[in-house]
Amino acid sequence: MDKELTAPVFDIKELSVYDGPGMRLTVFLKGCPMRCLWCHNPEGLSPRPQVMVDRSSCIHCGRCDHVEGCSYNADGRCSGCGRCVSLCPAGCRRISGYYASSADIAGKIARISDMFGPDDGCGMDYPASAPDFGGGRRFYGGVTFSGGEPTMHIDWLEDVCRRLRRYMAVSGGFFSIAAETSGCCSESAFRRLLGCADLVYFDIKHTDPERHKALTGCDSGMILNNLRFLAESRIPFAARHTLVPGVNDSQNELEAFAALLASLGAPSLLRAELLPYNTAAGAKYKMALMSFDPAWDEKRKPNTDLSPFVRNGIKAVVL
Ligand code: SF4
Ligand code: SF4
Ligand code: SF4
Repeated sequence: MDKELTAPVFDIKELSVYDGPGMRLTVFLKGCPMRCLWCHNPEGLSPRPQVMVDRSSCIHCGRCDHVEGCSYNADGRCSGCGRCVSLCPAGCRRISGYYASSADIAGKIARISDMFGPDDGCGMDYPASAPDFGGGRRFYGGVTFSGGEPTMHIDWLEDVCRRLRRYMAVSGGFFSIAAETSGCCSESAFRRLLGCADLVYFDIKHTDPERHKALTGCDSGMILNNLRFLAESRIPFAARHTLVPGVNDSQNELEAFAALLASLGAPSLLRAELLPYNTAAGAKYKMALMSFDPAWDEKRKPNTDLSPFVRNGIKAVVL
C-alpha cells in the first residue's frame, strides 16, 4: 500500500473561478515563507493549524483567557490545540487548518472530477508555440493548489499529483492540475512543482529588489531565477501582480513588470493578471488574532493601466 503523506490544508473551495480555467477545486495549503504586507490569507502564513475567532458573536465570558495549557495566552503563539473551541459557549472559535492525507485529497478530487470539463471561455489564448498539456487538449477545468505557498509541502504535492495522474490513466478522464506560487523556494522544490503542474500562476510582488525585500521580507533573486526556469520549462503560465495602492501600482512599477515579462521571451506566458488589493483582509487578521496596520489608503483604487503591457506585447487583464 502507498504511504500517505500529510500537509496542513486550511481551505478547499469548490467551483472557484479565479484560480484557473473551467470549473475548479482549489486546495489552500498552510505555510508561507513570505510576509507580504497586504497578504489577504493571514491564516495561510503559519504552517500549523490555528484558532480563528469570530468576535461578532463573542459574549465576553472570559473563558478563553483561562484555558489550561493555552500557548496563545502564554506567548502569543496558538498551537491549534483546540481546547478553547469546545469551551466557548458562543461557538465563535474554530480551528483553521487540519493535516490532510495525500490519499484523502486525491480521492476527493477524483470523486468530483466529472464536474471538471473543457473550458473555452476562460479568456486565455493558448499559444500555438507552447506545448499542449494533454493529448492536444486546450484548457480544462481541474484542481489548483494554492496557499500559502504550495512548494513548502512539495513531497505531499507530488504524492497527490502522482495519485491524480494514475487516476486519470486508469479512468480515462482528464482534468488540469494548476499551482499558484510566489516562486519563493529552492530551485529544486520549484523544479519539482513544475513536474506536477500543467499550468502555473506565478505571483510577482515587486520588481525592485529593495522594495521587494521591504514589502515581503524576502529577497527577490531566488524568485526571479525560478521565474526564468518557469519560462524555459514551456509550461503555460500566467504572471500575477496584486496591485496595492501607492505600494506597487505606480506607473514605473507597471512598466517594469511588463518589461520583466517581455524580457522572458516566453511563448508559454499566457497573460499578465492584475489583481486589485483585497480590502477585506483586515477582518481576517482580526479573526486570526494577528495585527494588521496597512500603511496605504485602502479607499484608493489602484492604478490598473494596461498600456505598459500593450506596449510590451503582453496580453494583460484586470481580475
Ligand atoms: S487553540 Fe485555543 S487554547 Fe489552543 S493554543 Fe490556540 S488559543 Fe490557546
Ligand atoms: S470563550 Fe468565546 S464567548 Fe467567551 S470570551 Fe472567549 S471568544 Fe468570547
Ligand atoms: S506570498 Fe501569498 S500567501 Fe505568502 S505572504 Fe505573500 S500574499 Fe500571503
